Amino acid sequence: MLRQYELIDRVLAYDPEADEAMLNRAYVFSVNAHGTQKRANGDPYFSHPIEVAGILTELRLDDETIATAILHDTVEDTVATPEEIERIFGGNVARLVDGVTKLSKIEAQTENERAAENLRKFLLAMSGDIRVLLVKLADRLHNMRTLHFIPKPEKRRRIAKETMDIYAPLAERIGMYEFMKEMQTLAFEQLEPEAYQSITKRLEQLKEGSGGDRIAKIGSGLKLLLGRAGVEAQVSGREKHPYSIWRKMQERHISFEQLSDIMAFRAIVPSEEDCYRALGIIHRRWPMVPGRFKDYISTPKRNGYRSLHTSVIHAENRRIEIQLRTPAMHAEAEFGLAAHWAYKQAVGGAAALRPDSQQDWIKDLVEILDTAATPEELLEHTRIAMYQDRIFAFTPKGELIQLPKGATPIDFAYAVHTDLGDQAVGAKINGRVVPLSTVIENGDQVQVLRSKAQTPQPAWLKVAITAKALAAIRRHLRNTEREQTITLGRKLYDDIVQRLPAPLAESARDEALKRLKLPDEAALLQQIARRHLSDAQVMEALMPGSAGADVAEAPPQSSAISIEGLAPGVAYELAECCHPVPGDRIIGLRRPDASIEVHAIDCGVLADLAERSDDETDWIDVQWGHATEGATARISVEVRNEPGALGMLATIIGQHKANIINLRLDNRDSRFHTNLIDVEVHDAHQLMRLLAALRAAESVNAAERV
Ligand code: MN
Repeated sequence: MLRQYELIDRVLAYDPEADEAMLNRAYVFSVNAHGTQKRANGDPYFSHPIEVAGILTELRLDDETIATAILHDTVEDTVATPEEIERIFGGNVARLVDGVTKLSKIEAQTENERAAENLRKFLLAMSGDIRVLLVKLADRLHNMRTLHFIPKPEKRRRIAKETMDIYAPLAERIGMYEFMKEMQTLAFEQLEPEAYQSITKRLEQLKEGSGGDRIAKIGSGLKLLLGRAGVEAQVSGREKHPYSIWRKMQERHISFEQLSDIMAFRAIVPSEEDCYRALGIIHRRWPMVPGRFKDYISTPKRNGYRSLHTSVIHAENRRIEIQLRTPAMHAEAEFGLAAHWAYKQAVGGAAALRPDSQQDWIKDLVEILDTAATPEELLEHTRIAMYQDRIFAFTPKGELIQLPKGATPIDFAYAVHTDLGDQAVGAKINGRVVPLSTVIENGDQVQVLRSKAQTPQPAWLKVAITAKALAAIRRHLRNTEREQTITLGRKLYDDIVQRLPAPLAESARDEALKRLKLPDEAALLQQIARRHLSDAQVMEALMPGSAGADVAEAPPQSSAISIEGLAPGVAYELAECCHPVPGDRIIGLRRPDASIEVHAIDCGVLADLAERSDDETDWIDVQWGHATEGATARISVEVRNEPGALGMLATIIGQHKANIINLRLDNRDSRFHTNLIDVEVHDAHQLMRLLAALRAAESVNAAERV
């Protein structure tokens, strides 16, 4: 394991300005937090995050990333809290650690193979800051390096498969080829042990050849050839890594012997011009294999990769592959985006990699891709940036649902299934009951609570943002609103008819329609339901002169408060426990008699219910309507026991244009007494100002909402 000073020296070697004190704090914090936890091989647990940090120093990453690597398992696996991390290491490190922790959670909950591609996209999107992803990949790489210590074969296989399906492609996607190759080799060893053994054995034999290191010989021959022609080259040779050989053997149905490019050589030459010169020298010396030459300098790969590739027929009729590139191209090829930054920074003078913000890395990415050959290629690689407007959430079964940013459980429900959307009555996010208007965050697990009795509600139009949800809600509302108003209208109509002084003649209704200039009964019922006609007007139309008998003209339904989100005619009541006022976020709770109780969202009664509730709890998403004029709030005011105190309270409340509805004296003692006051206010804002004014008064000790 790397010692503290070794790790920090490594960082300082490439970034003398790194925050040494922070790195020291991180090291000590991690060692303390992980305490006596052990890894599968018996090593202390903290050796793992330290090694992960060590891997990242090879990429010359900045001090915040290194600190994040050191701390990456502390929040998930120890008693350390995000607040603590933020306090000790600052907001950036806290945000990065949080990102890695979230990725680990997702990792733990998905085992669905079909979701592999989805999960890759998700991981990309989650890592809004690509440094999060780099830490996660280094974490996975170290876990793969120590995989053989895990005793259970099924667990080793599962981790290896996940690495093969998700992390290696992800590393490839962002151009971290060294990570990709090592992960694939280690996973291959687990997944296909026999194939792995036989291929590595053959590679060994090939390398040794007839008494000597064949690769080294061919390599030095190549260097000599180029040097004589005046091209100074650094040549390295290697076999293809075992997994890529295995894949080629399978794809092309050929044997190990038939593979043309098991040995590959790389010549790093000073300039782009030298690349082409070296190519000419090589092609003149050995015959090239037709169809194998690729010029990725004039046409870079989609991810920005640049090099010349060719295969030639070398001695003993053996084919070898040769890559030609400059040092800059090499750095980018090996460590992808990370190298791109490091290299640019090095050119600019500063040694360390320090991406300033998310915007910067996206800009960098787009810059790299500027040279992409086709619009499709560009699109493919800016998709990472495009994921920034998407969020990914999970069903309770772990299925991934992709939604635009700002989506709510309503959108989620309709994305899963139209029926689920239509019947949604509430939602649990990460196990907690939330209103349907809650904005879903990346990585949330969303459970939609449904009821067969539910239908799409008008208020949903304000909380849904996806086209699919909006279209389904509108369609349903158009169909049902008419029905509902007619049903309500008929009830009210029957009620009016009952109040007429005499039974109604059969023709009376048609006469009334004529008097009211309405085309048919449905129109009449709708007008009644919508309160466009008062009871008295209907009575007069049905039986002229009868309205006088109905003593007081029934006013339209009380308009002091209106609640949206309920079907017309549904009774509701503001809860006595929390006294919500306009401006408070509210939620409806269906009572056994089908009436609705409206609570403030943070009401303790709801929290108690949520604790015990099964999925049957009938939550209704409601909002204050435009017609709302005010509601009654309950406040408690503690005042000094002195003459005139109550009068002073009344004056302040009056100045704020609030009405005292009720006042009760509580907890009287010699110095203070507490007044429970019900005040009618216009909205929560007015109430806040009133409370502030009360607190400002000299004889008031405390004033707050109950
Ligand atoms: Mn870890």
